[in-house]
Amino acid sequence: YTRIVLNERPPGDIDSKTFRSEKASYSELKVGDDQVLVQVTWLSLDPAMRGWLRDERSYLPPVQIGETMRAAGLGVVVNKGRDVKLKIGQLVSGTFGWTEYAVVREKDAEVINVSEGILDIDYLNNLGMAGLTAYFGLKDIGQVKAGETLIVSGAAGAVGSMVCQLGLRAGAKVYGIAGSQDKCEWLEKEIGVTKAINYKSPSFRKDFKNIGYLDVYFDNVGGDILDMCLSRLNRNARIVLCGAISAYNSVGKPKGLQNYLTLISQRAKIEGFIVFDYAKRYPEAIAEMSQGLRDGTIKRKFHIVEGLENAPSALPLLFTGGNTGKLVVKVDES
Ligand code: NDP
Repeated sequence: YTRIVLNERPPGDIDSKTFRSEKASYSELKVGDDQVLVQVTWLSLDPAMRGWLRDERSYLPPVQIGETMRAAGLGVVVNKGRDVKLKIGQLVSGTFGWTEYAVVREKDAEVINVSEGILDIDYLNNLGMAGLTAYFGLKDIGQVKAGETLIVSGAAGAVGSMVCQLGLRAGAKVYGIAGSQDKCEWLEKEIGVTKAINYKSPSFRKDFKNIGYLDVYFDNVGGDILDMCLSRLNRNARIVLCGAISAYNSVGKPKGLQNYLTLISQRAKIEGFIVFDYAKRYPEAIAEMSQGLRDGTIKRKFHIVEGLENAPSALPLLFTGGNTGKLVVKVDES
């Protein structure tokens, strides 16, 4: 079977030498008493994966050279150990990695229930890490309220487009920032944001100023856009530090912020968070977002790449803005 391993740590952008494909023997796929063998069907590509390639202290240990690339995914249980209760054929999600088959402990395989109006891959998007990040980041850290102004960067991505929708549901005025005219049109027409602006347009600074002051900024990108938002805070504004994708490929430390003193004058808060800390409350978020998917009030969008072998060339799409919505890989069934 095929798996893709880390070949070398990229100093900057991910390139064709970063990963390599390997053939492994089925005989290696032995299950222990508490383990299951999963045939992987779908994989999630996430900006965080760039961070896992760095040999640095973070919320998870780095992926080692020669190790299968870590990734969240979906799959089917095809074999199991003596003590396992899960049934053969059960659909599960877990951190399976870039591989056709993975052996994991039963407790690390989460049962997925595909019901009316819910797709399996929703569990990699609105009902998975992206949606949960949007939900807890906006509600708990952002504490957005009706009538407030919410600005979202990376707005046409998986997390961002969900934040926009949850902001609208909460009655906020929602402004999305994204990297192309097409993405802005999608945000305005399909997602229904108040306005979307293109940060690559020559008129961006003017368009940004026209939004006025903000109560909540949901930051997926860091860098200059974060700095601009820091200069536009209303009193008691909240800045949700979700991600800083503009810095993920950079060599050396990211540039400092110029406008942070506004936090003092406006009695504002800036706070980072990691979605995994909300694990106990996932069911609450999944229930609300499943309902929205079923009744059509929450929209989903996927960018699907076919074939495990295409995962390494698809991952950089996240850093060039090649995706709209959730980037996933459909693993071949061969
Ligand atoms: P997305 O689907 O949003 O894809 C990434 C998008 O980022 C691209 O499509 C691109 O869109 C945009 N982008 C890339 N480079 C830049 C840049 N230099 N400046 C501005 N925008 C850029 O990915 P996700 O929804 O999966 O993740 C969004 C963010 O959320 C990431 O920062 C990620 O690390 C973070 N995250 C944080 C979690 C947490 O627990 N804190 C959990 C999960 C995700 P465009 O065309 O608009 O440039």
